[in-house]
Amino acid sequence: MATVDLKNIRKIYPGGFEAVKKVNLAIRDGALCVLVGPSGCGKSTLLRMIAGLESITEGEIAIDGRMVNELGPAERDIAMVFQNYALYPHMSVYDNMAYGLRNRRMPKPEIDKRVREVAATLELDHLLTRRPRELSGGQRQRVAMGRAIVRNPKLFLFDEPLSNLDAKLRGQMRVEIKNLQRSLGVTSVYVTHDQLEAMTLADVLVVMNAGNVEQIGAPLDIYEKPATLFVASFIGAPPMNLLPLRHGEGRAALADGTEIGGSGLSLSGEATTLGIRPENLFLVTNNDEIGGNAIFEIVIRAIEPVGAESFIYGDVGKTRLVVRVAGKTAMEPGAKIHVGAKVADLHVFDDAGIRI
Ligand code: ATP
Repeated sequence: MATVDLKNIRKIYPGGFEAVKKVNLAIRDGALCVLVGPSGCGKSTLLRMIAGLESITEGEIAIDGRMVNELGPAERDIAMVFQNYALYPHMSVYDNMAYGLRNRRMPKPEIDKRVREVAATLELDHLLTRRPRELSGGQRQRVAMGRAIVRNPKLFLFDEPLSNLDAKLRGQMRVEIKNLQRSLGVTSVYVTHDQLEAMTLADVLVVMNAGNVEQIGAPLDIYEKPATLFVASFIGAPPMNLLPLRHGEGRAALADGTEIGGSGLSLSGEATTLGIRPENLFLVTNNDEIGGNAIFEIVIRAIEPVGAESFIYGDVGKTRLVVRVAGKTAMEPGAKIHVGAKVADLHVFDDAGIRI
């Protein structure tokens, strides 16, 4: 078990590109910390620095209070699970799992005991004599996990471990990884670009963009109170509606002049963008719903029924908007409707993209 502390971590690659810019992060013992962000934001670089696979340009990394900057990967007592599994193709499942323990010269009976115990936990016990090519994607992923677990490391590092699996299997493995991590209680850092995977797995979510940490927190806190426009647009599917506002004080209106109705909204002069999650918009069917809310007139462009819910795509003035409603809807494209949102559900951002 271990804590992980990153202090002012920077990475500048030899060509001069700054991939990670002064990142600070403290991960508590036993937590599953997920680094999420778009391609190129620096999350793998950060993970590889924690692993010791990449040099650190500036700053300090401590595992369990001990500075590890100068230690090689083998000396950090970590185990890594990769996207491509990195299994030895010519070895059986058993030998793949035993490999790291043999290298450490663990006595044979002890290796045998550990491999069989972990294989049973992961339901791999009937596959121990197979080669990786004789396994399904999900089974290979489980062997990669098993190989990490048998070593009983202080820290697990996962680099997009599920991205080679199909959507259904990814969902199943996500639940398995979460349960396994909980029951083992080993501190873990997990990298993904998939915001849904990040939301469902994380105890602590770290949202990264262009080498910076944009926000750190519990997934639902981040969902409910995104600190920046970037986080607001990255976390949530379909993404939050972002409406540009008219500058200056006065009646609330969008940048194109479209008035925002209702009596609930008063905006500060610094507000430049209004954010509304699709599920926070409701259809206004009578005048009682107008008081205390923000109201928008929209023209419906398309409706997507997906079974339990429908997405209504429309335009408010010149801005696209999506509304998520339960069940089916009888409305048709071309229709003009009113939708509302409680003022408490609105997100307001300033010119610099910071939440007000
Ligand atoms: P992805 O999800 O695509 O893997 P990522 O967020 O993990 O993206 P990194 O792999 O950490 O991103 O890369 C961050 C940035 O650093 C990218 O712009 C990448 O091009 C750059 N980069 C990565 N490795 C090197 C390298 N060895 N030399 C120079 N630049 C690099």
